[in-house]
Amino acid sequence: MMHKEFIYHPRDFRKIELWKNVKDEEWYNPQWQLKNSIRSVDQLKHVIKLNDYQEQEIRRVVDELERQGKDPLRITPYYASLMDEDPFHPDIPLEEKGNKRLDPIFWQSVPTPANLLFPNTGREASMNEGSRSYGAAYQRYPNRVALFVAQNTSCASYCVHCQRAKSLDATCDVNIELINKGLFYINFNKNIDEVLVTGGDALRVSKKRLQYVLEELSKMEHIRAIRIATRVPVVLPMAVTDEILTLIKESANRYTKGPEKYVYFMTHVNHYKEITADFAAAIKRINSYGFTVRNQTVFLNHVNDYFVTLAKTFRRMFWVGVHPYYLLQCHKEKGIVHFISPIQVGQIYMKHMQGWLSGIVRPNYAVNIEGGGGKVLLMPLNYDNLNIDLKIEDKISESKAKVYTWDDKEIFDYEALGRATPDEYNKALRIMDKFIGRKGVFVPKIILIDNNGNYIETTNRTKLPTFEKQKKAVLLGYETNQSGMPITNPAKISKKLDELYQKSTFSKK
Ligand code: SF4
Repeated sequence: MMHKEFIYHPRDFRKIELWKNVKDEEWYNPQWQLKNSIRSVDQLKHVIKLNDYQEQEIRRVVDELERQGKDPLRITPYYASLMDEDPFHPDIPLEEKGNKRLDPIFWQSVPTPANLLFPNTGREASMNEGSRSYGAAYQRYPNRVALFVAQNTSCASYCVHCQRAKSLDATCDVNIELINKGLFYINFNKNIDEVLVTGGDALRVSKKRLQYVLEELSKMEHIRAIRIATRVPVVLPMAVTDEILTLIKESANRYTKGPEKYVYFMTHVNHYKEITADFAAAIKRINSYGFTVRNQTVFLNHVNDYFVTLAKTFRRMFWVGVHPYYLLQCHKEKGIVHFISPIQVGQIYMKHMQGWLSGIVRPNYAVNIEGGGGKVLLMPLNYDNLNIDLKIEDKISESKAKVYTWDDKEIFDYEALGRATPDEYNKALRIMDKFIGRKGVFVPKIILIDNNGNYIETTNRTKLPTFEKQKKAVLLGYETNQSGMPITNPAKISKKLDELYQKSTFSKK
């Protein structure tokens, strides 16, 4: 059964070359973690195994991204200890992707040559609506606003798949004047009842700034809920301290009149390897202050694009007190399109979780439409009285779709995947096969086009995942009976249960 031991055990840092002399007090000190974050390939090669070619290639990519003005590499020692020593042959069960397995923490945190491939992302620019900000406040919906309080590069660890690659109208240094303008707007627009305090990462801003923002929000009567958006519990759980939680609890309601504002956390777990004892302890601390924790998982090729991986991730986070809220389609950004999996595949995984996992454990699957369109829900699709003979699996069309945004905007030909010519695609495979050291592992889903931009085919889409009932039972780790299914109706075996009950201690109570 998969849930007997579900907490992931990271590597012992004392056995990692770079930190073999580090004391416990240092390791659990968030300042030490931040000061000793991996910022160079020279440090990285003492943490994971890289051959000379891989080392040289990562160096090349980091240099190139830096040349483009990006800050591509920052990994806290804690998060780095979640990577297998050999990230190209990770110790995760063979049934999860067979030989195609790659370490999900490595792929989320170390730039690889894939980040320089597929520069043509497709058509999203046509949906660009320009800025939606006033000061540091960014708005998409009538009643919610994101308030950027941190500098955009202030996250504790950097995620390779991050949409920091694109400007979310907040690539600027968020100074106090911008924050004050944002606060002014939130105070001005009385429709706004929820504010997402975000960054970068809301827990990576100075305590003084966080206190100021929360206190100002506490003065606004129309604000009912405050969301703290942070990946700190995942990448730096030791920074979730009583001091910061007390500050949030006190500041968010310091000047509140009437009912208290509802404060909750939103974090970002993508793989069950991130659910460690330290993560669970951080969630427990957050919960103990009365804050709930929800999660947004990004659906990422080579990280979690598999039914079992997603199911394990959602169930395990729930067991430690985190509510799966969204499974988000990865953004179509230059440099990260190899992380995208087709929407239809995500839909099939989600469909097959229905009934097999509790509804509270299954998040909403959604895509964030580029250019300020907001989230479009991609599930459920079970109720379709126009195509009654077709299942989702049969509706796999090309990579275009007509989507309707929350405000009834119709977007035709929405494409979730990036585009490349066959030459670009084949060259990319050659580069990545050489980098990974074996063929068939790097399987990007890309729309192939000719030189005039005409559609040819979509790669790696021919084999769609299928899950018959019995296979699902095994994949989810359920005990099964002779029919290959778990018990779902105890009345059918009541005679056997009666006998066992009589012999059990329960009948003696
Ligand atoms: S924590 Fe969030 S904002 Fe920061 S790098 Fe990761 S995905 Fe991007």
